[in-house]
Amino acid sequence: MKKMARSISYITGSQLLSIRRQPNIAIIDVRDDERSYDGHIGGSLHFASDSFSENISNLVQQVKDKDTLVFHCALSQVRGPTCARRLANYLEDFKKDDAGIKNIMVLERGFNGWEASGRPVCRCSDVHCKGEGA
Ligand SMILES: [Zn+2]
Repeated sequence: MKKMARSISYITGSQLLSIRRQPNIAIIDVRDDERSYDGHIGGSLHFASDSFSENISNLVQQVKDKDTLVFHCALSQVRGPTCARRLANYLEDFKKDDAGIKNIMVLERGFNGWEASGRPVCRCSDVHCKGEGA
C-alpha cells in the first residue's frame, strides 16, 4: 500500500486554548520580526519562516517528545501552512517517522485572531517561551 501524504488539519483558537498545556503539544510560531513586538502565545517555540528550512532538523530535535505540532503565523494564511507543509514533506522525504510526530496542525486565524479573541498573550523575550507569562 502506498503511503499517503501526511495531511495537515486546522485547529480553532478555542480548541487550542483547551489543549495547549498538554505535554504532547508544541506550538510553533513562524512569524518573523512581529513576534518581538506583538507578543506570542505562551509556551510557543519560535522558528521564523524566513529561516525555517535551515532550522527544520533543529525543530524536529526540539519537539522529539511531542506528537502534535500546531503552526501559526500572523493570520495563518501563508507562512503557517507553508511551514507546516515543509515539515510534513521533510518528515516524509527523510523517513523520520520515528520523530513521533503524528498530527500537524495550523491554528485558524493565526496569532492575530487569537489575540483579537482576547486569548492570553505572553510578552516575554525568550526565543522559546516557557509559557509562564500567559
Ligand atoms: Zn513568552
